[in-house]
Order: sequence, then structure tokens, then C-alpha cells
Amino acid sequence: MADWRRELGRRLRGEVLLDERLAPRTSIKVGGPADLVVRPADADDLAALLSGVAELGVPLTILGGGANTLVADAGVEGVVLRLPAELGEEAAQSDLLTLPAGAPIARLPARGHALGLVGAEFLAGIPGTLGGAVTMNAGTPAGEVGDLLVSAELATADGVGSVPAAALGLGYRQSRLPPGAVVTRLTCRLRPGDVAASRAAMEADLARRRATQPLTQPTFGSTYRNPPGRFAGQLLEAVGLKGHRVGNAMWSDVHANFLVNLGGATARDVLQLMKLARARVKAEFGVRLEAEVKLVGLFVAEDLQD
Ligand SMILES: Cc1cc2nc3c(=O)[nH]c(=O)nc-3n(C[C@H](O)[C@H](O)[C@H](O)COP(=O)(O)OP(=O)(O)OC[C@H]3O[C@@H](n4cnc5c(N)ncnc54)[C@H](O)[C@@H]3O)c2cc1C
Repeated sequence: MADWRRELGRRLRGEVLLDERLAPRTSIKVGGPADLVVRPADADDLAALLSGVAELGVPLTILGGGANTLVADAGVEGVVLRLPAELGEEAAQSDLLTLPAGAPIARLPARGHALGLVGAEFLAGIPGTLGGAVTMNAGTPAGEVGDLLVSAELATADGVGSVPAAALGLGYRQSRLPPGAVVTRLTCRLRPGDVAASRAAMEADLARRRATQPLTQPTFGSTYRNPPGRFAGQLLEAVGLKGHRVGNAMWSDVHANFLVNLGGATARDVLQLMKLARARVKAEFGVRLEAEVKLVGLFVAEDLQD
């Protein structure tokens, strides 16, 4: 075993898994192992991990719910960090809610409802963790996390601090967090309102998703970002790839911008489909598609090139 793995294992109290497969920890169920997957026991354990990887020069990858991530077939070098759902305390003060970043996204509207607060309906049916939702500025045309976020608590090897939302560079499905920063908690502002109407709006959204998205198959949601003024799904539909298959991956026949794993798909299968789509959209519309999904790990360079 590499010395750094033994050394980190000695310093940490939480869960430390060697050569752990990541596919089951992503929503598309694709990808190889990580050298080490660490789930810190508490905030002190997270601090020990962050200073340990900095000191030992070990690469660190943060994985939330894996709902927007494609892991390479060869896996991930170094440490993959997973936050427990309860790392850090919850707090509520008037219309402000503070929640741990490892908690599921659905916890935000649910805690709001319990307190008579609404405003997070647009999160209905978005899988993953609140930390991932901040990093991706998750949302829909009806709203995004940045509309609610007041501040985020960030942990780095230098310590923990609260950063106002305005300093996180939130934009369309993106953020600019300081390198290596882990979102550990977030504070959002909701508003007092009609909880029954809020619940009904979320139910209606879930029903719409069930009708228009391949939710019974493993997927990472939208593959490509919408180019300025266009919809990626419409461009992909127009180039006729719905239902197109490579290996065990397929462009969904339900939603043109969703890729699905038919069972046993590799990251390579997925990348080939993405490449094909990019080439066709470029050729037919002159538009360059950019991935929304985050690629993590040891990819083969030629699989990433156009
Ligand atoms: C069926 C389906 C539907 C979807 N619909 C939508 C939708 O409508 N709108 C939308 O925006 N997205 C949608 N998504 C994508 C996904 O749900 C969101 O991007 C979500 O925010 C991902 O959260 P996660 O915890 O799974 O992130 P992951 O995939 O685990 O990580 C995503 C990125 O965030 C980083 N990250 C995660 N946690 C932290 C943290 N605590 N600190 C620092 N960085 C962190 C990771 O390093 C990575 O770069 C959908 C996905 C699926 C599968």
C-alpha cells in the first residue's frame, strides 16, 4: 500500500475505504475505483484530512451525490471525499435556514415547509447533495440555488470560514469556489408562504419530470449546457441521436439531452456518444456544445478530444 494511504488512514477516524469502486456512488453507475474514499467522522476529522492531503501532496476530489459526475473507467487518483449528511449543525432563524452540505437537496424545501417557509420549489426532483447544488448552482428556468443562497461555510487546509454568496461566482450551472475548498454548510433565505401550494407545485414538477425524463434508468441528467440563446436538447434532437447506442450507453429516447446506462456502460461508451453529438451539432449548427456533467479521474486523452 502506498505510504500516503497508510499515513492518512492512521490520522483519520471516519470511514476510509481502499480501492473503492465509484460507479455505485454516481447516479449513472459508471466508473472505476478511487485509491481512497474518505467519509470524515466530524468537522475535526475533515480538517485533519484537508491538512493531511495538502501536506502529503495527495490529489483531492470532492464527490457529493454523484448526480452530475462521470468517473473515468480507470478511476480516480488520490482521495475522494464524501461528506456525511450530518456534518455540521442545522440552524433556523426567522427565514434563514442553515443546513449541512452533505444533506440531500430535498432537505432544503422540506425543512422550509416544516417552518412555514417556501421558495425552493424549483429544487423538486433535482438529485444530489446541497454542496453539489451550491457548486453547480443547480436549478431550472424557475430559479437556482444562487437566488436563495446567503452564505456558504467553506473548509480548506487553512481552516473554516463563512463566505457570502456574492463571492462564490455563481452563474449558469457554475461557481468559482477557491481551489480545494469544500462547502460544508450553507445558509439560504426562504420566505413565509403557502406551504400546501408549494408542496403542490413540487408534486406537479415531479410529475412533469416523470413524463419527460428517463428517471427509471441510471443517468446524470442534462449532459450539455444550453448554449447562449439555444436549448441543448433541441439541438441534440435535431441531429437525430435519440436512442443512439454505443456499447451499453444510449442517448435517451425520452429526453434528447440525457444519456442513460443500459447496464454495464463504460465511461468510454458515454464519451463516444458525447463526442458524436458534439461533432454533429457543430457540423449542422456551427454551435460548440459544452459539457454540464463534471468529468472526474484518469481519462484517456484521445477519448476527450473532438
Ligand atoms: C435525473 C436527474 C435530473 C437532474 N435535473 C437537474 C436540474 O433540473 N437542474 C440542475 O441544476 N441539475 C440537475 N441534475 C444534475 C444534478 O442533480 C445537480 O448538478 C446536483 O447539484 C448535483 O449534486 P451532487 O451532490 O450529486 O454533485 P456531484 O455530482 O457529486 O458533484 C458535482 C460537482 O460539485 C462538486 N461538489 C460536490 N459537493 C461539494 C462540496 N460539498 N464542496 C465543494 N464541491 C462539491 C464536485 O466536486 C463536482 O465538481 C439532474 C441530475 C439527474 C440525475
